[in-house]
Amino acid sequence: MIWSEALLAFVCLCEVQLGDPGEIKRTKNTCLPVPEEIARVLRGEAPPLLGNLDGVDGRVYCVRCHLWRPDDVDVHHCRTCQRCVVHFDHHCGVLGRCIAGKGMKGNYKYFITLIACGHLGFLTFAAASAATLFRRWGWEALLIGICVAVVVLCCGVSLCMLAIERLVFKGILGPWLQRRARGRAAEQPGQGALGNAASGGKGASQRSASA
Ligand SMILES: [Zn+2]
Ligand SMILES: [Zn+2]
Repeated sequence: MIWSEALLAFVCLCEVQLGDPGEIKRTKNTCLPVPEEIARVLRGEAPPLLGNLDGVDGRVYCVRCHLWRPDDVDVHHCRTCQRCVVHFDHHCGVLGRCIAGKGMKGNYKYFITLIACGHLGFLTFAAASAATLFRRWGWEALLIGICVAVVVLCCGVSLCMLAIERLVFKGILGPWLQRRARGRAAEQPGQGALGNAASGGKGASQRSASA
């Protein structure tokens, strides 16, 4: 059973990695006509546009990958892959691919099956281990095995969360998050002033209360 789950997981992994998530292809239909605003930006006569453009035929022009999106489906631009994808769900940082699709289209079904295979594989391993323990050493060994598994799982999850928090959020992403927070504060000086006033007022009230 574990081999069939592993085989299914491998097929789904290949589909997610190699299959098309639903990217909008660059064709004559999707690339043309180039809107005048975009042409001016490309000629260097205007600053880059921040929002997408609405066409007269109901379609929307993505100003980041420079193509017309179809008007009858839900499309989202993936900032990591720099492309527009139909029925976008999220960009998977572990697999490095856009996860998108609906029904039989896209790679979303393979992604869900891959996750399910991981859970099923764990359950199969746990059931096989419990059966082996029970057959060889009886109930006592099975209970001890369950307790050990629970302790190891709890410690493992705690250690993983601690490692992610220390390495990713404070180590790798820490400087970027701080820069982003400072940038947002600089963009909204009014809020900063209000925040300072609020904190000052709170401080004053605390000071008066303590006095
Ligand atoms: Zn796009
Ligand atoms: Zn992506």
